[in-house]
Amino acid sequence: MNSKKNVARAERLQQRIDAGYMSAHFPEVLNIVISMTYNQRGIGKALPRIVNFFPGSYALFRITCLSKDCVDGGFDFTHIITAMIGNRRKVAKGELGCEGNGPSPDHATIDYEVAIQYA
Ligand SMILES: [Zn+2]
Repeated sequence: MNSKKNVARAERLQQRIDAGYMSAHFPEVLNIVISMTYNQRGIGKALPRIVNFFPGSYALFRITCLSKDCVDGGFDFTHIITAMIGNRRKVAKGELGCEGNGPSPDHATIDYEVAIQYA
């Protein structure tokens, strides 16, 4: 475990605490499901991942990168999700690239589908 990763982890934890709970920010949301296919260059295998957010979850919609060499990477759904909630949109699909400094510029991408249930 290198110290750069520890610092990144501590920062992510602090971001979570700062973000607060989903119920406080979006009381009209029952749950959010992000279904994605994680594609890592060099692995040649697509990994399915599903992440759920509930009212008691932290309102931080950032998915970590699975690449072990990736530094401070991840996929930020904050803008996508806040825009969806603003429009009361239920489903959105798209593709995101990892924001981190990994082994190569586009070492990982995800194809995602976000589904939101409203109260
Ligand atoms: Zn990455």
